[in-house]
Amino acid sequence: MGQTIFQNIMNRKIPADFLYEDEHCIVIRDINAQAPTHCLIIPKKLISRIGDAAEEDQNLLGHLLLTAKKMAKKLKLEAGFRIIINNGKDGGETVPHLHVHLLGGRSLIWPPG
Ligand code: 5GP
Repeated sequence: MGQTIFQNIMNRKIPADFLYEDEHCIVIRDINAQAPTHCLIIPKKLISRIGDAAEEDQNLLGHLLLTAKKMAKKLKLEAGFRIIINNGKDGGETVPHLHVHLLGGRSLIWPPG
């Protein structure tokens, strides 16, 4: 099976702006930022999307959210931030490797488009 874009980034086959890495995940800047700060928290384990996550992924999913929270602090998003997970075609998913978007640095409208 082919590697996802994010696996190729993890393996340093495709360059990216890394902000953080640990044994479970990486954090990179999104190549097409939708806000002054836009990064992606990506598990090293390939889970295609949140809809395909399993019970055994509970700790990992919690780790991704806590990492997003820590990154928001590190990136000084004290005025607020948004965490997004897109799932499937109608959800706007374009890369089939679970990732958490962290956006901030501007006032984000609601409802989203
Ligand atoms: P999705 O639409 O699946 O929720 O989000 C995929 C995100 O990955 C998009 O925001 C897109 O800009 C980002 N992305 C896609 N390819 C690359 C890449 O090669 N490098 C980086 N840094 N981000 C990427």
